[in-house]
Amino acid sequence: MSVRQLHLLGSPVLRQRAHEVARYDDGVKALVADLYDTMRAAKGVGLAANQIGVARRVAVAAADDKEVVLVNPVIVEMDGQEVAEEGCLSIPEIFADVGRAEHVVVETTDAEGKRVRVEGSGLLARAIQHEIDHLDGILFLDRIGPIKRRRLVADYKKAHKDDTGYLKDIIVPEGAAKAY
Ligand code: ZN
Repeated sequence: MSVRQLHLLGSPVLRQRAHEVARYDDGVKALVADLYDTMRAAKGVGLAANQIGVARRVAVAAADDKEVVLVNPVIVEMDGQEVAEEGCLSIPEIFADVGRAEHVVVETTDAEGKRVRVEGSGLLARAIQHEIDHLDGILFLDRIGPIKRRRLVADYKKAHKDDTGYLKDIIVPEGAAKAY
């Protein structure tokens, strides 16, 4: 188990559709453990495998005193609509209002391959939707208007113009901002 480096905006793995997990071996358990360790170190509310450079359909989310493991997750129900500020651990310091379903039901498996049904509302529902987006190669910036998106991407590029490569050690966000 270890805290892994994060892949940031521009890293191709963030735009990949992650592959289904077919075999529930120790590698899946180790991946889940690394996701938890890395999410906690970054004070995030969720983290998907793409964000640590692994294109497999595995993610974790933790909000409202609930922790969920998502392996091959599929959203089967969505209810309500809620707009709230969202950030992403792979796009540090950039935040925007994003509309999401207020409540979701997900059919998934855990790290051992046991099928479970996970339900979440509010922040947990938002985190689950954000992580499943990651597994499909979608970023929260894709869910806001084009003008705002262009401005935020320009802000991000300006702030990161001296970066070399797309890998970063954990950046712990200041304040209570939520990132996924
Ligand atoms: Zn994210």
